[in-house]
Amino acid sequence: QTPVPSDIAVARSQEPKDVSQLAEEIGVFSNEIHQYGCKKAKIDLSVLKRLEKRKSASHLVRITPTPLGEGKSTTTLGVVQALCAHKNKNAFACIRQPSQGPTFGIKGGAAGGGYSQVIPMEEFNLHLTGDIHAVTAANNLLAAYLDARIFHEKTQSDKSLYDRLVPTEKGKRRFSKIQSKRLKKLGIEKTDPNSLTPEEQTAFARLDIDVDTVTWQRVVDTNDRFLRKITIGQSPTEKGHVRVTGFVMSVASEIMAILALCKDMEDLKERLSKIVVAQDKQGRPVTADDLGATGAMAIMLKDAIQPTLMQSLEGTPVLVHAGPFANIAHGCSSIVADDIALKLVGPDGYVVTEAGFGSDIGMEKFFNIKCRYSGAKPNAVVLVASVRALKMHGGGPTVVPGIPLKPEYVHENLELLEKGLPNLIKHITNGRKFGVPVVVAINTFATDTQAEWNLLKKASLQAGAFRAVICNHWANGGAGATELADAVIEACNQPLKFRFLYDLDLPLVDKMRKIAQEMYGAADIDITPEVQKRVEAYTKLGFGDLPVCMAKTSLSLSGDPTVKGAPTGFILPITNLMISVGAGFVVPIVGEIQMLPGLGTRPNIYDMDIDADTGEIDGLF
Ligand code: ADP
Repeated sequence: QTPVPSDIAVARSQEPKDVSQLAEEIGVFSNEIHQYGCKKAKIDLSVLKRLEKRKSASHLVRITPTPLGEGKSTTTLGVVQALCAHKNKNAFACIRQPSQGPTFGIKGGAAGGGYSQVIPMEEFNLHLTGDIHAVTAANNLLAAYLDARIFHEKTQSDKSLYDRLVPTEKGKRRFSKIQSKRLKKLGIEKTDPNSLTPEEQTAFARLDIDVDTVTWQRVVDTNDRFLRKITIGQSPTEKGHVRVTGFVMSVASEIMAILALCKDMEDLKERLSKIVVAQDKQGRPVTADDLGATGAMAIMLKDAIQPTLMQSLEGTPVLVHAGPFANIAHGCSSIVADDIALKLVGPDGYVVTEAGFGSDIGMEKFFNIKCRYSGAKPNAVVLVASVRALKMHGGGPTVVPGIPLKPEYVHENLELLEKGLPNLIKHITNGRKFGVPVVVAINTFATDTQAEWNLLKKASLQAGAFRAVICNHWANGGAGATELADAVIEACNQPLKFRFLYDLDLPLVDKMRKIAQEMYGAADIDITPEVQKRVEAYTKLGFGDLPVCMAKTSLSLSGDPTVKGAPTGFILPITNLMISVGAGFVVPIVGEIQMLPGLGTRPNIYDMDIDADTGEIDGLF
């Protein structure tokens, strides 16, 4: 339909098929899905076991260099619709579950757009099957017990602590499985809890946490800036256990990263057990396992570990799993979802998997972190580019979502576009550094001109893009991305030359420097003395071989969100360093980036409503 109606109107115009029919079409048995109503279902991980021997398929990622939300999800859906419904290929889209933060803040949804969307759009955007809530619950359970344990250790004697932790049942003490594990970790070669010496009992029962080293924070999926720094324990019942802590976004939490990076339930538990929450007074890491919380957290996540099956507007399969925020998290969809999709499409199929934001953060983390843990070797990168985003990088006025676009963006302006090209070229070069062919998808907007597209296409090819394709899947669905699908097929047929950007044995600081120099264009990094201390401490504890997950603005290749284009020669400030041992990476914080976004004066909240009679939801777009 022209003009293209709003995203929600398009989404509502198509009745999704029953998810049990979709499951049957993709070769999933009825006992391998858990339906949530009739439009979405969890896929049981047992499907991986059943298909263990089947050959897997090709793999690709798509990215965008824009600050606006310029069509990553739309293009993911568009190209999969084209591959499945127009090119007769088996193909899956693997995308992330939207966070309530941006949905109610500035973005209104993340289901794609126009005629390339996931449906039902309301369900996709709001709660879905509750995975983010489960992540929040698991995280906060650990936080609650951590503070409770510090409290009890302060008020109880060694004997009383041991008596409570290892209670006597029918005259005998019994260790839980997780407690036996702790005993082993302490090097106590005993299995009978009744035989521990008083010294061993104390070593077992007292975690002796140094409160100043607690790094585990609570999480929330709302843009609630006032929780960034808080004081807890102020009630008299907490007897002076006041301490300053904070919240981070649920989707940027270590548990969300673990959910995305684990391969199965066993791996999930293993990663949860390794979470480091603090250090004890002797500087040794205190883990979730030491607190006995691994199993309880895993229970919270037992459904969340299963990806959710949904469909595109054209009825093609979509797996939704894990969370966004590639700026402050790794922001990739899950390994489990990719693995299931790779098996289901079979050896000649295609899996288009989503990683957030531009090549500098989303793609870099996808390759260096996710692919390292999954073992997948991607065949191609689809780089989503739009004329208006590049005009902004060329010096055009700031674009504020919801405010009408300035004339520069709605009229042909080749000069401005030309000035923005270095940004696109940098993203193409970044992709090529991983040895993977880069297909540029020019996501066309109604206000663009042919001359502008031609300029983009020419510059992309000159910069070494494998193909550059003008697509209009937003306006035409899969039919608008058939040329893109052809380019993707061709790219996937190229010999596989994928390589990582850095080796894991490179020291932590050198890994940060390499990413800053090669991906962002920085001359060097600047680390504070505090960060240097942490680098040394983490390295000493044996965590120096982990990959790094930079927390950096998505609005600029540099660490400063106001700098556009493709800056070079700048010094990247690393202001803090955190560690996620369970997820398996170290997180350097670049500049002033916040781990919990805030709400503006007029968030999307104002436009949201639900009809009391029909239950119809307004305000998603
Ligand atoms: P991203 O995944 O990069 O954040 P999305 O694919 O979610 O971006 O798209 C963001 C918004 O932009 C959606 O509302 C979508 O409808 C709109 N959009 C995307 N591509 C186009 C296009 N070619 N023309 C008009 N609007 C578009």
